[in-house]
Amino acid sequence: MLSGLSGKLALVAGAGSGIGKTVALKLAAHDCKVGLFDLNKEGLEKTKSEVTSAGGSCETFLGDISNREHVQCAVDGVTSHFEMAPSIGINCAGITRDAMLLKMTDDQWDSIISCHLKGSFLFTQILARQMVKAKISGSIVNTGSISGKIGNTGQANYSAAKAGIIAFSKATARELAPKGIRCNTVVPGFINTPMANAIPPHIKQMVLMMTPMGRFGETTEIADLYCFLASESSSYITGVDIEVAGGLAM
Ligand code: NAP
Repeated sequence: MLSGLSGKLALVAGAGSGIGKTVALKLAAHDCKVGLFDLNKEGLEKTKSEVTSAGGSCETFLGDISNREHVQCAVDGVTSHFEMAPSIGINCAGITRDAMLLKMTDDQWDSIISCHLKGSFLFTQILARQMVKAKISGSIVNTGSISGKIGNTGQANYSAAKAGIIAFSKATARELAPKGIRCNTVVPGFINTPMANAIPPHIKQMVLMMTPMGRFGETTEIADLYCFLASESSSYITGVDIEVAGGLAM
């Protein structure tokens, strides 16, 4: 059993689908109150209904993680709704805009840097400010990708943003450790979600051949790591990036 989760307040970005949704459900099962943040209204409502049916406590916040006002509204909103400051931040919001470098447009580049890199900056900064203001310790977990460690064909934009997130979390871990706030990065390989399901079949086949475990992971196989990093059970862990990738890129 993970320690120090019960009664805590978590804000989960990307909670409307995939990994973020499973993390939100697991945190609620650990008796956390959960703020669900996402751009996808329908996804948010589905997650809310699943958390509530399982007996959990949550509220939804619709917004774009790359927009300062939206993230600030979510952090303020979750704080006033639950009458306490969030001490856990989980950032699983994300998109892909794949193209080969020679054909990549400015828009494909900018939208990925904005959603992933600026989104991680805003999410971490605004949550950390709230934790410092409330004089509480906390844990923030961002999401990298194996593409950010080894690069991936057709994903120069995404690989660059994900590598940036790993370095960003390490720098913030150094700055925020004296304030009692830990920052870590989960680094997924290929996990069965709507995002991964959009990968063309021939690329999927190639990935499976490169993955020693010979299969994609399930969201339930990665969500526990976010919960562990959010909990007091990882109280001496900060600034790390941990791969959950079935042995890909060992
Ligand atoms: P997913 O199922 O597509 O979930 C991502 C969620 O984020 C969606 O609900 C999406 O909404 C939302 N979102 C997109 N842009 C947003 C924005 N600007 N602000 C707020 N929410 C936004 O994807 P996933 O596979 O769970 O991915 C979760 C994280 O893991 C992402 O950071 C992804 O890059 C990373 N990752 C995933 C894999 C994998 O194999 N699945 C591998 C490596 C890394 P829409 O549905 O409207 O887009």
